[in-house]
Amino acid sequence: RVPYSTATIKQSKGYKGHDMLAPFTAGWQTTETEPLVIEKSEGSYVYDVNGKKYLDALAGLWCTILGGNEPRLVAAATAQLNTLPFYHSFWNRSTKPSLDLAKELLEIFTARKMAKVFFTNGGSDANDTQVKLVWYYNNALGRPNKKKIIARAKSYHGSTLIAASLSGLPALHQQFDLPAPFVLHTDCPHYWRFHLPGETEEDYSTRLANNLESLILREGPETIGAFIAEPVMGAGGVILPPNTYFEKIQAVLKKYDILFIADEVICGFGRLGTMFGCDKYNIKPDLVTVAKALSSAYLPIAAVYVSPEVAEVVYSQSNKLGTFSHGFTYSGHPVSCAVAIEVLKIFKERNLLQQVNNISPMFQDGLKAFSDSPIIGEIRGTGLVLGTEFTDNKSPNDPFPPEWGKFLPTFWIGSYFGAQCVKHGMFVRVSGDNVAMAPPFILSPQEVDEIISIYGKALKDTE
Ligand code: PLP
Repeated sequence: RVPYSTATIKQSKGYKGHDMLAPFTAGWQTTETEPLVIEKSEGSYVYDVNGKKYLDALAGLWCTILGGNEPRLVAAATAQLNTLPFYHSFWNRSTKPSLDLAKELLEIFTARKMAKVFFTNGGSDANDTQVKLVWYYNNALGRPNKKKIIARAKSYHGSTLIAASLSGLPALHQQFDLPAPFVLHTDCPHYWRFHLPGETEEDYSTRLANNLESLILREGPETIGAFIAEPVMGAGGVILPPNTYFEKIQAVLKKYDILFIADEVICGFGRLGTMFGCDKYNIKPDLVTVAKALSSAYLPIAAVYVSPEVAEVVYSQSNKLGTFSHGFTYSGHPVSCAVAIEVLKIFKERNLLQQVNNISPMFQDGLKAFSDSPIIGEIRGTGLVLGTEFTDNKSPNDPFPPEWGKFLPTFWIGSYFGAQCVKHGMFVRVSGDNVAMAPPFILSPQEVDEIISIYGKALKDTE
């Protein structure tokens, strides 16, 4: 097998050694290779500056649910830009789009009643906000020690100091002196990879809930403020919770009065075939993070949902202190909010949830049919999100050895497969030997066929 070479892609000339310190990019990539420069988008496709067309099977970064050129979002942004391009929401001043969006968001979250919405710019600062809320809440309740946050191995919650600490991916910690000491990590709930011989999904979930309880007891329940989880793990490899997992985890959290933060940045707004991941897995969270699909990524915006219990404590405390001193210049940016309101309108009018449920069996079944490949260990997914795990001997214990291409950071078999997808005109997300897909919701049956066809060609090249 030949390690992935960037020579397989005709990239854009003239930007080698460019001036951007590029996110999630190795230094050598910018100095030794040309970047792949995307110039325009149309429906489920994007085009690079050479005119090559790619089916964007990751919807940008799991976010452009309405695809690349939805005129109503452009019109909503333009109308707002022409009326009021900016005003802030500090000191109880606000704008109509931010107030209207908050109201709409509260109406559509039905897994449990939520009381308030706090706006941020992206998922990372939203999750930082969550931790600050947990601390503020426990300070207000006179529990200054109840501050530690439990997250899970392989989770992704963003890359700011707190969000990167919460994330359970070592690459986000190495060289950054993270995770911060108040963050603890418990098991990744990946049944296929981590279950014991003969262990059922239910037994595995019981073991993980017991491990969580042991961690809480070891640290002291009076020191644990919150637990954070993605309903389905995204960047960690599209990991679905095993049967009864969230039911058992929630019982433990309740026992020790620990808040549940649901990170719905990827799952929220229909990705799993339900409006929120909390609906699918019967999660009753205290705090919820949403982002990405909220504006179909046309403009940056994220939001934090706050339960009535937490909101009440925060308000009564801020009444004593004079103010709740947290916020961003762009919290509730009116143009982002106007776009998000339009996304939610389109969502209802076009019944996008139904669309996801109509198209997802074809997407899931078509791709899972490749499970027999000798280099694939597991293909898993639900709704419009799917992960492929490449392994040797089809065994969860035999990941392909990273030494295969150690001279490149993009060394694993998943990277090779990802490069073949690019060659054939499709974008997927590679992380190690895991490849994720999360296409836009506007996907047509023909485009699903095209995804399956390119996946098959890339797999053949990789085998
Ligand atoms: N939380 C989850 C589950 C995510 O997938 C992401 C980004 O992919 C984030 C948080 C961070 O969001 P952002 O990149 O907007 O800061």
